Amino acid sequence: MKTTQPPSDRTRVRRGAGNAAYEPELVRAIVDAAYICHIAFSDGMGAHCIPTACWREGDHLYIHGSNGSRMLKQLMAQDACVTITHLDGLVMARSAFNHSMNYRSAMIYGRFEAVDEAEQRRALDAFMEHLAPGRNAEVRGGNDKEHAATTVLRISLAEAACKVRSGGPEDDEEDMGIAAWVGELPFKQLRTAPVPDPACAVDAPRYVREWASEP
Ligand SMILES: Cc1cc2nc3c(=O)[nH]c(=O)nc-3n(C[C@H](O)[C@H](O)[C@H](O)COP(=O)(O)OP(=O)(O)OC[C@H]3O[C@@H](n4cnc5c(N)ncnc54)[C@H](O)[C@@H]3O)c2cc1C
Repeated sequence: MKTTQPPSDRTRVRRGAGNAAYEPELVRAIVDAAYICHIAFSDGMGAHCIPTACWREGDHLYIHGSNGSRMLKQLMAQDACVTITHLDGLVMARSAFNHSMNYRSAMIYGRFEAVDEAEQRRALDAFMEHLAPGRNAEVRGGNDKEHAATTVLRISLAEAACKVRSGGPEDDEEDMGIAAWVGELPFKQLRTAPVPDPACAVDAPRYVREWASEP
């Protein structure tokens, strides 16, 4: 069933509410299509918005980093906002004002929590699977020292808002006679051919062979 209600007041989209969506499946799909997110938080030096790798398991978004990371320490002590944006196209209208962009974006609010050691090992395996399915079985897993130096945090996807725009321009009636090209200039993330390291001595596994043909 379509969820039309935001999970909280701060996730209620007010501007462009016609593009708002709050369905958990959509939040999950936007997270799954991402390799990175941007995380906003503040400290004594002001506001920061930091890009970092992310992945999803169940109803949580996960991140990882060094135990010494300023960002990770701050995120355990205050609420944060995580943003993911996929740009799908430039929308060309008959007036400068009505130009737009097509996109899928999500904003997730809440407090990150650290996971325990057993969960950390499992979550980092899931991260590797997100990057390259099957690679965990090919590489050396993290050792105790590496795990001890790493923190894994997760945030619930429960408090999230999405905005999605698709389609062509919405021109004003009085501009319809203007003889400008109108439509969408679409974007796609382009995967290109893998580049083996000169010292690589093994045949390409499936996720490498299929890399450039994946959408
Ligand atoms: C690729 C891209 C380009 C954009 N370009 C512009 C631009 O040039 N100018 C401009 O004004 N806006 C732009 N937007 C829209 C912008 O993200 C905001 O939605 C808009 O500016 C309204 O902000 P607000 O704080 O007034 O919204 P409000 O509607 O007051 O925000 C209320 C709540 O809605 C949610 N929300 C707001 N925006 C988003 C979002 N994008 N995704 C998910 N949840 C959201 C948040 O929870 C927020 O706290 C762009 C968005 C994308 C993805």
